[in-house]
Amino acid sequence: MVISDRHAEHVVCAGGQNVLSAGEMTFNFDLEDIYVGEVSNQSTGYCPKTESWKAVEIALDKIKIAHPDFFTSAFEFRYCENCQTKNLIKEEVYECSVCCADLSLDWNIDKIKKNKK
Ligand SMILES: [Zn+2]
Repeated sequence: MVISDRHAEHVVCAGGQNVLSAGEMTFNFDLEDIYVGEVSNQSTGYCPKTESWKAVEIALDKIKIAHPDFFTSAFEFRYCENCQTKNLIKEEVYECSVCCADLSLDWNIDKIKKNKK
């Protein structure tokens, strides 16, 4: 697990490496403990699948820190193959916010790298 402050871009934080998940995490402190209060997959750099929660859970369990049992905020990202933009899906509308093309119902962010070759 790599942690940086909120102002760091996720891809830079991870040294440009591939990751199992990415997002934002809020740590809460009380007199005796530190625990994760909020955790999301909100990373427009990596656009991780919501299913990447499992990797986050494993990492948090390894360091023995209390955490929620799921992303407290989960986001869906899709790549528009028509105009080559990333989209954050809102209200389950799978339509490109730039060109209005229909977006894949399946996570397809991996197609960005394939098209950049
Ligand atoms: Zn588009």
